[in-house]
Amino acid sequence: MASNSAHHATGWAAGLIAAALVAQVGAAGPWHLGSVAAFVAAVAGGTAPDWMEVAWWSRGRRLWITHRTATHWGLGWIAALVFAYGSLHHSKPYTAAVFGFACGGVMHLLADWPNPLGVPWIWKRHSLNWWKSGRCDLLVVALAWGAACWIASPLWVARVERLAQWLHTVVR
Ligand SMILES: [Zn+2]
Repeated sequence: MASNSAHHATGWAAGLIAAALVAQVGAAGPWHLGSVAAFVAAVAGGTAPDWMEVAWWSRGRRLWITHRTATHWGLGWIAALVFAYGSLHHSKPYTAAVFGFACGGVMHLLADWPNPLGVPWIWKRHSLNWWKSGRCDLLVVALAWGAACWIASPLWVARVERLAQWLHTVVR
């Protein structure tokens, strides 16, 4: 796997992406609670494929699911993501959280993908085989944050434009 800290760092980026997308479809709701829920859930989802395979209730914390099998199943995460995105506009409180969680999960798989062990996107594990686990974490994190800034930027641009308009009316 990519190192745990890399998964945390990309999970936060996934949180920003999820929060921005929730806001963009207008599903943030009162006090932006939907965006907040999506953000928190995405941070949890960013490490979920790894902690879901650990039997945390057992003493030895053994793996009860073989590493990088069921919990790293790409199709499942992507289906959850698409389904949750589609139901966002019903703006039930939990849809934003489910969407965020799936965002984090997909981000996790993307971060795992370039390692030799690979990710079972559909059935068999596939690896991009770009580098060994833990190498190039910085690049992975930078890419994740680049994507996050790119997706969130329309929101900032709109804010700044509104601020500029407001200033203009005040100054006049
Ligand atoms: Zn993993």
